[in-house]
Amino acid sequence: MLSMSKKVLLSGIQPSGKPHIGNYFGAMKQFVDLQDKYESYIFIADYHALHSLRDPKKLHDNIIGVLLDYLAIGLNPEKVILYKQSDISEHTELTWIFDTIVTMPYLMRAHAFKDAKAKNKEIDVGTFNYPVLMAADILLYSPDIVPVGADQKQHVEIARDIAEKFNKTFGESFKLPEPVILKEVATVTGVDGRKMSKSHNNTIPLFAEYEEIKKCVMGIITDSDEGIPKNVFAIHKLFRDEAELNKIYKEKTGKYKELKEMLTEDLEKFIAPLREKRKKFERDIPRVLTILKEGGEKAKKVASKKMEEVRKKVGVQVY
Ligand code: ATP
Ligand code: MG
Repeated sequence: MLSMSKKVLLSGIQPSGKPHIGNYFGAMKQFVDLQDKYESYIFIADYHALHSLRDPKKLHDNIIGVLLDYLAIGLNPEKVILYKQSDISEHTELTWIFDTIVTMPYLMRAHAFKDAKAKNKEIDVGTFNYPVLMAADILLYSPDIVPVGADQKQHVEIARDIAEKFNKTFGESFKLPEPVILKEVATVTGVDGRKMSKSHNNTIPLFAEYEEIKKCVMGIITDSDEGIPKNVFAIHKLFRDEAELNKIYKEKTGKYKELKEMLTEDLEKFIAPLREKRKKFERDIPRVLTILKEGGEKAKKVASKKMEEVRKKVGVQVY
């Protein structure tokens, strides 16, 4: 049973590709570490993934993939409510109501929109509106904390602003959530030195097989700083003590191949047990899907109660 006195945690991940070690250290690990302490809502942001993925088979498989990943990293469905966004229609319903109080100039300041604009991309309304849907994702469940990577800080702040604006306009309704960002892992570096991202094609997948790990690591751009390959080091320090690594990297100055081989082995040591756990869950997909469905039913109860309150507040409730 979930205790009523616990504080509430909420977070999610998009099934836009295979989760990677950046997702894990930046966000997912915190979900596991905090699951005993918080009443936790962890979801699969499938409607968000539609911005970048228009391949139904892939999206479908990725959704099940993320669910397996959540279970394999140790999220316990007895403690955590696991669900997918598209099962809870209140997320999109609340987005509409928020849309009526958020201005376009305000949303134009959001990073995702600015980045897309800078790249001269044809921007779909969904990408523009992404932070509003994310505000609805969060605010429906009244969380105290939202553990995320640094790239999502602004989106949590937008959710806070929207909550404040709604509260001011229609009366106190939404709790203001706090982002939780761990400094050391706020932005995990990808193999090309940019932020590791599913959509950048620069990841080390969290459940990679040995050969794939090797290939990813050998592909790390060895942008060197006096013989120290910065990008290799940045990833390596997720798995070993930094002082110890400093010593090793100094001893092996310029020996990029050796350092990469060492990182490959450290990654394999870390990933192998996770991979095994995931394979166990993969053998019983119907059971795993039941977990998601039941989580959705629990989340729906919370979301629909909040939505009822919102409909009353804005004045559309007449029965
Ligand atoms: P996409 O490229 O499709 O946006 P992504 O790799 O950025 O995918 P998301 O699903 O958007 O992953 O993010 C899931 C969580 O992982 C978020 O909390 C996000 O802040 C965090 N995260 C993503 N990339 C990193 C990273 N490189 N370092 C730390 N945290 C990250
Ligand atoms: Mg992202």
